[in-house]
Amino acid sequence: MDIEKNARDTIMKHSLIEKTDKVVVALSGGKDSVAVLYMLHRFGYDVEGLMIDLGIGNWSEIHNEKMTKFCEGIGVPLTIVDLRKVLGNGMNFIKDVLKKEKNLSGCTVCGIIKRWILNKWAKKLGADKLVTGHNLDDEAQNVLMNFLKGNVLLGVNSSPATGGDSELRTEAPNGHTPPGHENLQAGDPAGPNLGLRRGERECGFVQRVKPLFFIPESEILKYAKGKKFDILYDKCPCAFGTYRVETREWMEEISDSEKVKIVKNFQKLIPQLRQRNVREIMQCKECGEPSRGNVCNTCKIFSYLD
Ligand code: AMP
Ligand code: ZN
Repeated sequence: MDIEKNARDTIMKHSLIEKTDKVVVALSGGKDSVAVLYMLHRFGYDVEGLMIDLGIGNWSEIHNEKMTKFCEGIGVPLTIVDLRKVLGNGMNFIKDVLKKEKNLSGCTVCGIIKRWILNKWAKKLGADKLVTGHNLDDEAQNVLMNFLKGNVLLGVNSSPATGGDSELRTEAPNGHTPPGHENLQAGDPAGPNLGLRRGERECGFVQRVKPLFFIPESEILKYAKGKKFDILYDKCPCAFGTYRVETREWMEEISDSEKVKIVKNFQKLIPQLRQRNVREIMQCKECGEPSRGNVCNTCKIFSYLD
């Protein structure tokens, strides 16, 4: 598969990025985000990398070194945000506290904090667009996981462009909160923050875009290996025992063409789902970032760490 063509087509068809945009790529150090950064730079966009150092021992140190070298090599600026400086603790400590206090899974906590930091720093960097390396497998997993949990509506914002004015808030069906999330709901925050940059639209979100949305993970792996990217190919060492990891494992049996059908057929349902799921957009009273309630999920996490 020509994945560069696929990414270009997605960018064009869904109007993901303009030539004049300042594009910030959320760089985890894995193959997907590295591939998308590399491609966008090659396509001539004004890109830079933004990486969160999660403070997960050796794993984070190796990623930092490799990404610093990689970005220098292709001449792209890189900002590394040290989680310990922002929150006072590394991710493992934070996850342990939240597991004990709220019985939340580590990946949920990590995801909430990453989204908060990425949005805040993308704004600091003056980004019009925030790019992530989410691929077809991630999206197909989301569709099936939400379906199996009986929460299809949680996928209402799943599309190549989310955030900004393209995003509408979702609640679990019948207003029920997913188990374990009673006081702290997972999901993307959003809220008003008027008068900022073009990419923020009117809700304090820098628009997040996913050029690899329709590309199977297996093809990205081939691309990264073909280009001989000097990166860590392992999955996050902390992601085990979660529903997503289990789903990922049994989905290995499903072919790429079926994953395309899962994602594309779900996309067809989204307009109808959106009509029924508009939620109010707010601004966190603690930090001013987008939020689904008065206080955003990340500030709730802060309060449990005190
Ligand atoms: P994940 O949720 O780990 O599968 O990551 C999905 C996407 O989020 C990646 O492709 C990156 O674009 C972004 N991302 C994940 N971890 C980080 C990180 N530590 N720093 C910056 N971006 C990240
Ligand atoms: Zn907040």
